Amino acid sequence: PSQTLPEMIALSASAYGKRTALEYFGATTTYARLGEQIERAAEGLRRLGVVKGDRVAIVLPNCPQHVVAFYAVLRLGAIVVEHNPLYTARELRHQFEDHGARHAIVWDKTADVVAGFPDDVRPAHIISVDLTTALPLGMRLALRLPVPKARTARAQLTTRPRAKHLHAWSGVVDQRRLSRRVRGPVLSDIAVLQYTSGTTGMPKGAILTHANLLANAMQGRAWVPGLVDGEETFYAVLPLFHAYGMTLCLTFAMSIGAKLVLFPKFDLDLMIDAARTSPPTFLPAVPPIYDQLARAASRGKIDLSGVRFAISGAMSLPVSTVTRWEEATGGLLVEGYGMTETSPVAVGNPMGPSRRPGTVGVPFPSTEIRVVDPENPTVDRPLGETGELLVRGPQVFQGYWQREEETKAALIDGGWLRTGDIASVSPDGFVTIVDRLKELIITGGFNVSPSEVEATLDSHPDVTAAAVVALPRSSGGEEVAAAVVLREGAVLDVEALRDFCRTRLAAYKVPRRIVAMDDLPRSLIGKVLRREVRDRMLEGQA
Ligand code: ATP
Ligand code: MG
Repeated sequence: PSQTLPEMIALSASAYGKRTALEYFGATTTYARLGEQIERAAEGLRRLGVVKGDRVAIVLPNCPQHVVAFYAVLRLGAIVVEHNPLYTARELRHQFEDHGARHAIVWDKTADVVAGFPDDVRPAHIISVDLTTALPLGMRLALRLPVPKARTARAQLTTRPRAKHLHAWSGVVDQRRLSRRVRGPVLSDIAVLQYTSGTTGMPKGAILTHANLLANAMQGRAWVPGLVDGEETFYAVLPLFHAYGMTLCLTFAMSIGAKLVLFPKFDLDLMIDAARTSPPTFLPAVPPIYDQLARAASRGKIDLSGVRFAISGAMSLPVSTVTRWEEATGGLLVEGYGMTETSPVAVGNPMGPSRRPGTVGVPFPSTEIRVVDPENPTVDRPLGETGELLVRGPQVFQGYWQREEETKAALIDGGWLRTGDIASVSPDGFVTIVDRLKELIITGGFNVSPSEVEATLDSHPDVTAAAVVALPRSSGGEEVAAAVVLREGAVLDVEALRDFCRTRLAAYKVPRRIVAMDDLPRSLIGKVLRREVRDRMLEGQA
């Protein structure tokens, strides 16, 4: 087996040569060609001064260039730093300040933003990727994308202010093979700085090694039975810049010679189109996506019968979504759990009849878990009781980039990771996630789990989504408050909703305040941002 990610991709390039590695709007790249492009891009980056240990920023949506850039950086022993290309200038700048990359490979739409950073933050070299060049001509015309004329892109770049070292991606990849002297990384080297989603605060850069990421891909392999090397079609609707997509779509697909169909965003029509010619066999996603796809499949708009296993993670998976999906497709939908800090998967349901909806399953191979007292994490809680979940295993990260305090708080004695999540474990080892420790609401001495209250509100016929948060009470302490999104045509009746909750929840859990929102604020991967819901409600109050 390969020891590092670039070794893995080189092995796949020779083993699966003529098979399709990537598909993007119908345009395909073979494994052999991908291997070649990676070597050339690595040479281009080497010539721009990238050496082992350097951080190289990637700011791209899912596209073939993203995959080439990812492995080219790793090939040099350098460190990939992923970014959400839809982040605002302020958010991106915060990350660039944090990691200090001297090279950045960016979507041309964000090139200006990165080039406009102050002198001490701006990378020395900015490589701008024109995303339309990977599309077949017909597709560019159909999407009304401008068809680039060779020189204009570069000419435009060089006229931009303060940007001394702007390069066009096409110039970087247009090299001969990588110089033989480059040795590349070893197993214990850092591969990726992967920022957390920023759900509870500022995103933190999780340090993940080649060993971490390969371990999680291999654990994933052991998890999913019956995958056939060189025969599968994976869909990457999840962003590759997030830990979930990076491992379960990209690394996993590339390690088994699968065809990876890349989507720049989740869009039902794009998927329906792609599924006509390349139906998926493996499709990691999140609950809101499964809901939409199940609806489309049951109306006969998309054929998903080839998806034997679907994996949901990143947020809790409603049992109703499982039922809907399984009825519509005939395949299994199982839930896993993990975090950026665990590369990302730590726990998963068995892919078979013993899976248990409502739980996140059992620890991955070589992974240990404990449930402890959050106040005193050396003290284990009795089996079945709730407490903070700890994880130990080969996929657990090395710490947060330049955040010693947070690293010390997260990685405790014996290599245990404090997940910050409250969970319980059943006598036969199934894990149930209750909530994040930080988001539990303490009211009148009682703990309220916002997820439980949300699930209750969700079950009301007029409510399509709910977020429950703590608001400060004028008398001190916190009170339970909820924001709900109503079904079209429904009118908010606070008292009726509270009555509905009262018959299902203990009195102290019933939201005191309920407001209606058009939409809940969500992260790009679809997690509800309770922090923002709370801010909005506080503003509304002021
Ligand atoms: P930040 O750490 O920056 O606040 P984040 O924790 O959302 O953001 P991620 O690493 O993307 O960043 O997410 C990991 C978290 O997602 C877990 O700690 C857990 O709270 C939640 N999560 C993941 N899978 C599940 C699941 N199956 N059910 C419920 N929650 C889940
Ligand atoms: Mg987190």
